[in-house]
Amino acid sequence: MTINLTDPVFHDETKAREFLEKQRWPHGPVCPYCNETKNAVRLGGEAAAKGQVLCRPCRKKFTVTVGTVMERSHIPLTKWLMAFRLMASSKKGMSAHQLHRMMGITYKTAWFLNMRVREAMGLGPDPAKSAGPLGGAGKIVESDETFVGGKAKNAKKGKPTPKKTPVVALIERGGEMRAKVVADVTAKTVRKVLVTQVSRKSHLMTDDSLVYYWLGREFAAHDSVNHSKDEYVRGKAHCNTAESYFALLKRGIMGSFHSVSEQHLQRYADEFAFRWNHRQLDDTARANEIIKATKGKRLTYRPTNEA
Ligand SMILES: [Zn+2]
Repeated sequence: MTINLTDPVFHDETKAREFLEKQRWPHGPVCPYCNETKNAVRLGGEAAAKGQVLCRPCRKKFTVTVGTVMERSHIPLTKWLMAFRLMASSKKGMSAHQLHRMMGITYKTAWFLNMRVREAMGLGPDPAKSAGPLGGAGKIVESDETFVGGKAKNAKKGKPTPKKTPVVALIERGGEMRAKVVADVTAKTVRKVLVTQVSRKSHLMTDDSLVYYWLGREFAAHDSVNHSKDEYVRGKAHCNTAESYFALLKRGIMGSFHSVSEQHLQRYADEFAFRWNHRQLDDTARANEIIKATKGKRLTYRPTNEA
């Protein structure tokens, strides 16, 4: 990962604001309350320094951070930009502790940044609604599950082994992917994830798990490989794309986070899925995609100091 640390956007608050505005508003300010573009005017004097814009039609004032994960934060924009850039670049994921050390900010601030950048990288509580279904006619979608965490050696002495949490990955070949943390891998649970997030016109690819026996018939086509008979690839039938995402996620969790509580696993899975979906871009372009994705995202729970 190479970052130009001397770039003024990481040091100069005005430059950082101008950069953010260029990313979020390429054609000039957009009112986050009524979507007005023509009559949103920049205010002068002291308000100008703070980037305030007045929307004439709805009479509301706003800045570039309103309606994003950055709203109402007292963290300088230079720090936000650095966090976007670091988290866009890191293949193994970036923990709050790493941000704390690399950016010279308090752990508490780093934790806040870490959670909110991840929130931007996610698709929200209803991905089918925010991003539409995966797959479609003539498209192949892989579905596979893995279990994350719960390594006995990570358990504290005298405490029971933490349980492993299942994650389902859905990957459209040549398209996007999503990962969903689930309570279990029963046919009922997996079906709910698939039918809400994958178009039934898709060609489904899975392993030979019984979970997919009936579920597969709800899709246009279904092929499976017999993992239980050591068969991993048969022509187009394989789950190797899902496997490679799982490998990245697991390496990241072991290398950067050591362990992840079940409560936060979905955010980590989203962070890795975001980088996967934008892997063709360079690090700067990927960071800019995070900036665009900050729109309309909010953390709905009260943060704790948990990493
Ligand atoms: Zn307005």
